[in-house]
Amino acid sequence: MPASFDTVIIGAGNAGVSLAARLQRDGVRGIALIDPSPIHRYRPMLNYAAAGQARMSRYERPLATVVPDGVELIPHAATRVDPDARTVTLESGASVSYSDLVLCPGLTPHWDDIPGLQDAFVDGWAVSAHVPEYAGRACAALVREREGTVVFSVPPEPASCGGTVLKAMFLACDRWRRKEVLDRIDVHLVTPFGGLLGLEEIDARLQPFIEDYGITVHANTRVAAVDHRARTVSLDGPAPVTLEQVNLAYVTPHSRTPRFVAQSELATSDASALVDVDPRTLRHARFETVWGLGDAATVGTRPSGGALRDQVAVVADNLRAAREGGALTEYDGYTVIPVAVSRNRLVLDEHDRDGRPAPSVRGIDLTAPRRMTYVFDRFVQPVVYFRRLLRGRV
Ligand SMILES: Cc1cc2nc3c(=O)[nH]c(=O)nc-3n(C[C@H](O)[C@H](O)[C@H](O)COP(=O)(O)OP(=O)(O)OC[C@H]3O[C@@H](n4cnc5c(N)ncnc54)[C@H](O)[C@@H]3O)c2cc1C
Repeated sequence: MPASFDTVIIGAGNAGVSLAARLQRDGVRGIALIDPSPIHRYRPMLNYAAAGQARMSRYERPLATVVPDGVELIPHAATRVDPDARTVTLESGASVSYSDLVLCPGLTPHWDDIPGLQDAFVDGWAVSAHVPEYAGRACAALVREREGTVVFSVPPEPASCGGTVLKAMFLACDRWRRKEVLDRIDVHLVTPFGGLLGLEEIDARLQPFIEDYGITVHANTRVAAVDHRARTVSLDGPAPVTLEQVNLAYVTPHSRTPRFVAQSELATSDASALVDVDPRTLRHARFETVWGLGDAATVGTRPSGGALRDQVAVVADNLRAAREGGALTEYDGYTVIPVAVSRNRLVLDEHDRDGRPAPSVRGIDLTAPRRMTYVFDRFVQPVVYFRRLLRGRV
């Protein structure tokens, strides 16, 4: 007999731990969190760590210490879900059964999309904070750079707050300027969007910094291939080109859901293979007792940690409403992209599902570069994350 739980959550990242804590607060008992990772990481700090502004170890905790009391942590990877039998099979071979299942296993790099990239990461010539194992190397590489060509790339969707690549880029440019080497570094930005992030208001805020730092932008363009031996980055877009003699390729791999989702009937049939939920109710499109949120699900907006506050509340409320026969509440697609433009100012993008501005504070324009938003993002938000969000106070 498989161990049986009221609610099983796959993935104990930002979404999974926050949701487990919130459900526990709401009085739900019999919750299991499945995740093989020994570490829980505050991911938004990775860009600051890559830019040499933070020590990542201060923002990592043993996973067991952030799992709410009373919630059972199952430290194995999920390998298969049978939504009809309502069971999850684990890497260990054991299985668990559930009344409701929530899927939030995040995204993993899909190295094959960019030929040569995985080898280039192993070599150390390519880096990105979006691959946490390499954030330390990214920092060493960006800090070391003194001249030549450096290429940054914003990944196409689905990506985990992909626009924050600009944060690492601007922080690096600010550092290079202070070291008086920026004039000798030829910085290129490759973005799959029109403009910078394809969001009119925020692009207009960021454009002056692109010009001030002297960055060449390749819009509507993707990295097609890299070659760390030849030191080339090939671009696919309106003006296909191969950038040569590249000193450092800050190229973020494209992402997919983990295999147990991507190769299952829970995923969408398109290339993204995300957990196929209704983007408003976050309930699975075909299986009534399956829900999804976070980076791995079709939430219909750009994924971010800031988006999870609303998503966690909607899933928690809807799990209960579905059982009680009540009306389901809806997520409006609110999300954020915080972009530090220097070591003491930050531009905060907040928008809804349709890309329309969705400011959380009235009377003060947070899209303007401000010291206040920088301080909040760099110093206050991590405290809020560990003390409130992970404890279900959303
Ligand atoms: C470099 C970087 C910078 C970012 N900056 C910001 C920012 O400034 N602001 C912001 O709001 N957001 C930012 N984000 C985005 C934010 O961190 C994510 O949106 C958020 O972490 C998503 O939470 P999640 O729980 O969906 O996924 P994750 O936090 O990725 O957690 C997924 C969990 O699922 C687990 N898992 C995977 N496969 C399995 C399996 N088979 N079985 C069981 N468990 C599994 C993983 O081990 C992991 O613990 C950033 C992300 C990155 C990578």
